[in-house]
Amino acid sequence: MKVAEPGVYAVRFARAETTRSNMYLRYRSYREEDGPMFCDFYFWVLVHPEGIILFDTGFDDRYPVSIQLGFEDGLAALGLTTADVDQVVVSHLHSDHTGNIPRLTGARFLVPEQEWRFWTSPMGRRGLFAGEMLEGYLGDLATVEREGRLQTTGPGTRIAAGVRTMSAAGHTAGSQILIVDSPHGSIALASDAAHFREELDLDRPFSIASNVADMYTSFDMLRELERQGTTVIPGHESTIADAYPRVSGDGGVPAVVRTLDLTGIKRTTEED
Ligand SMILES: [Zn+2]
Repeated sequence: MKVAEPGVYAVRFARAETTRSNMYLRYRSYREEDGPMFCDFYFWVLVHPEGIILFDTGFDDRYPVSIQLGFEDGLAALGLTTADVDQVVVSHLHSDHTGNIPRLTGARFLVPEQEWRFWTSPMGRRGLFAGEMLEGYLGDLATVEREGRLQTTGPGTRIAAGVRTMSAAGHTAGSQILIVDSPHGSIALASDAAHFREELDLDRPFSIASNVADMYTSFDMLRELERQGTTVIPGHESTIADAYPRVSGDGGVPAVVRTLDLTGIKRTTEED
């Protein structure tokens, strides 16, 4: 298999049809009619000169939404197998972002320290939190930790040349986003710091929150990144698959698109 050109790829593998009142916190506060909306599911693949980096791993068949593009098939569309994955940056520990981990037996996992502490504490097992983190999924990460493949990240951990994390709490206790700079532009993969473009544009917190004030602060941070010229890509936005050049998929939910060209990035082991 020929590996795809260097780039940041979005792999859309599932879609849920839902409602606005389901997606936004205390939707009734806005005094608007309810309506339908899509919540799409992605994982992200960086074909980078320093290796193959995943940002989140989607969900697997333990999760109650049907999968329209299998994890291995999504990777295969980029000429990759699970064995090729070097690093996995985890945005947060909700189950729709942390599936398929047992399939990645050779990868190093980078989890925000604050997030890891939260979910492994008794608070992480309280009803409303635990409902978003299926039991087995946390066990998968515990296995990775026992095998010495889990490392924690801080507010601005360097992942590779031009790639770094940034803290964006609020949706969960320790969520992080991924910033990718290349000679062709800069993007911020927001994951659930902003699920939808509209969430940012209307300044409306998502229905699942650990701290609403932190969530608003994370919105401000994303807008500041935009002011500086970074393109913010919300993590569950259905329009992404149509906004960028498509590598595979023709019109339906399964889609792999290239959101940023990474050619010209130099391999480096130094801080940048
Ligand atoms: Zn989430």
